[in-house]
Amino acid sequence: MFFVLLLAFILGGAIGSFLNVVIDRSTRGESILGRSYCDHCKATLSTIDLIPIISFVSFGARCRYCKKPISWQYPIVEGITGALFVLAFMVVSGNGQSSLISLTYVFFIISIAIVVAVVDFKFSLIPTSLVFLASLVALFFNYFALPTPLFIDRILAAFGVAIFFWLIVVITRKRGMGEGDIVLGFMMGMILGIKGGTLAVFLGFLVGAVVSLALIFFGKKHFGQTVPFAPFLVLGLLVSMFWGQRIVDVYLMLY
Ligand SMILES: [Zn+2]
Repeated sequence: MFFVLLLAFILGGAIGSFLNVVIDRSTRGESILGRSYCDHCKATLSTIDLIPIISFVSFGARCRYCKKPISWQYPIVEGITGALFVLAFMVVSGNGQSSLISLTYVFFIISIAIVVAVVDFKFSLIPTSLVFLASLVALFFNYFALPTPLFIDRILAAFGVAIFFWLIVVITRKRGMGEGDIVLGFMMGMILGIKGGTLAVFLGFLVGAVVSLALIFFGKKHFGQTVPFAPFLVLGLLVSMFWGQRIVDVYLMLY
């Protein structure tokens, strides 16, 4: 088991390294193909510069050529992707549905979720074409993997969450959320369904509100200033995807 989990972490680290490229290049309109290079000196990076986490640590968080510091984004995204892949493997195989297709699907959703969260955090925008792509993949997956009532549940949830976010955008005149969040809501509903989607949105708003209040309290932000919201929605999405059923069961047991 340990060996398989280690393998999942290494795979996640490697995918995370690729996600960093997607995060930085998609917003600049550059191709995601082509060799990686240093942002400062433009030196082409070789294989030993690109080993996830290990290169960053062993070269002291600096470029080997120009010695300028390398962003912490790289090892953080690699580490988080690795950790989430391990978690996904444990949850999916624990559910007794460890088919290669469901695992690949969950890995894909995690990857998209990480890119969306980091791009919104860094550039205050949502990569809508990626979110549409993920919604489409989720639609196909649901169509083949789920019985018809659950498939319909996913479609209804996609439109339900999107309309709910659209109303927020209209009512708050884009101060609370942007149009990108509507597309993200559509994706969340498509992946999670009505129950899971509701839970994810609730968790996203809850954590988002707590963090925003904390930022205001510690003077990092002032009232009315916007905080990127997608990272919280993504957190809700992942928690709901991994433990949604269990959380809903516990909640219903309390009543
Ligand atoms: Zn350099």
